[in-house]
Amino acid sequence: MNDEEIKNEIRKFALQNAAEHEGQTRDKTILAKIMGNVPELRQKAKEISPIITEIVSEINQISLEEQQEEIKENYPELLEIKKEKPQKDSLLPALKNIEGKEIITRFPPAPNGYPHIGHAKAAVISEEYAKMHGGKMILRFEDTNPGTERLEYYAAIKVGMDWLGIKYDSVEYVSDSLDVLYKKADQIIKSNDAYVCTCSQDSISKDRREMTECGCTKQSVEENERLWHKMFDEKGFKEGQALLRFRGNMQSGNTTMRDPALFRINTKRHARQEQKYKVWPTYDFAGIIFDSISKVSHAMRSKEFELRKELHHTILDKLGMEKAEFIFFGRLDLEGMPVSKSALKPLIENGKVPWYDDPRLPTLEGLRRRGIRPEAVKKFVLSLGLTKNDTVSPFASLEAFNKKIIDGKSVRLHMVRNPKELKIVNLPSNEFQLSNHPTIDLGKRTVNVNDSVMIDGQDAMGLKKGESIRLLGIGIVKIIEDGLDLAAEYISENAENIEKKIQWVTKETIKIKIIVPEQLFFGEEFNEDSLKEIEGFVEQAYLELKDGDEIQFIRFGYCRKESTHQVIFTHK
Ligand SMILES: [Zn+2]
Repeated sequence: MNDEEIKNEIRKFALQNAAEHEGQTRDKTILAKIMGNVPELRQKAKEISPIITEIVSEINQISLEEQQEEIKENYPELLEIKKEKPQKDSLLPALKNIEGKEIITRFPPAPNGYPHIGHAKAAVISEEYAKMHGGKMILRFEDTNPGTERLEYYAAIKVGMDWLGIKYDSVEYVSDSLDVLYKKADQIIKSNDAYVCTCSQDSISKDRREMTECGCTKQSVEENERLWHKMFDEKGFKEGQALLRFRGNMQSGNTTMRDPALFRINTKRHARQEQKYKVWPTYDFAGIIFDSISKVSHAMRSKEFELRKELHHTILDKLGMEKAEFIFFGRLDLEGMPVSKSALKPLIENGKVPWYDDPRLPTLEGLRRRGIRPEAVKKFVLSLGLTKNDTVSPFASLEAFNKKIIDGKSVRLHMVRNPKELKIVNLPSNEFQLSNHPTIDLGKRTVNVNDSVMIDGQDAMGLKKGESIRLLGIGIVKIIEDGLDLAAEYISENAENIEKKIQWVTKETIKIKIIVPEQLFFGEEFNEDSLKEIEGFVEQAYLELKDGDEIQFIRFGYCRKESTHQVIFTHK
């Protein structure tokens, strides 16, 4: 690159940055951008600094309009990138059929497991739509399957919503309002649109396949009412002996229309209602009735329910109830990080993964422990838009959003593994000030160095007598002894063309455990090496950080402090 090209490159970055920041940019920012984007200029910081200062000052003096004009004229490629960006960050498509309506959405988890990234998607989309239109959002627990709900799951879902910063306007528990649903059942039996079926599960399945009706369909309304009451009677039907079925259409090409169950008997203990109820609605019935009663205007549902839309509309029509607008979206998975209970449960039961908060898992608790910020989850989910396609996203996509959020908040610290002593002679001082962040003011820390530091074993092995290296925060030293008795001589605070930069700690170092989560599955195969433990040695300043703080260990990556003794590796 000649001088002219260098100036041109600096001007481009400065204009771009200024245009993004209301017409103003800063030397330091541009220097960092140049260093980050133009590798061949990394050695020339000293020479280009004054050029940057000059150009930045020129650009700060012209108006934002002039800056934009110049970009259009000379660097149109910057606009191309800009055009793509809003698309990526774009929010959701506008809702249809909203005239004169209050927008009410709902997030309806079944409290039968720990919330994960898929729940986050549904909740974020529902909340976002309510917010876009000044509407309301309901958190609804669809807890109508005794034996699967647990109090800890209800709690975990609420904790997850709080963590994500999702604000709901009210909470509903379907299990609190079964009487309302029983009344709807009375109504639909009376209109002869539902009947009690006492056939065996096998013969019901067979009839469904063969599109034939069972004898129960011929029962009179009175007979159905009698049998319906018998379902409630303690001495009446037992679990599995009777169902209330919707009279759909056994010949329908849509299998969900073939007389699905609306209520069944379940005598297992319910987490909230204990043994109070015996007859429980199916999700098919409970969800849509609740949507209608709660005046939900737009119901976001996962795509697998799309086939059930015809059924749900038919049931609501028979009951003369209002229908919410259905909006369907695809599943969201992170590559190699399963969310389904069928995949997770065995892993936990056979001890391959200790618990649902494991940092290898895409559960909200796992992501939180790993150091993923809720804002990153939200932005990531919204960046995917409202596609009906199932998304299997690499963790790196979420990571990219997270990095932007945590970078400016992460204190930089030194960490070494397998420490080796490096003696240093001629140190100009015993006290060194280290910045906690290269570009943002996160304060400084003072470190006392006597006549030696501890460096990473791997770095120590590579040092050769006669070479000069930069000991980060101390300056340039020249290796005067390699091998086992490593020693160096202090040369200067700064020098050019020193490529090797090494972090160090003092002898008063603190030993910590670094948990490194990796991809849990490759295809179908469980990765036995997916959780690594590394021993690290860190600076004293580590002790001053709070649990939960994010750190960047220089030349290693971002980690979240879990305790005095342990961090979890977040990502590079
Ligand atoms: Zn039957």
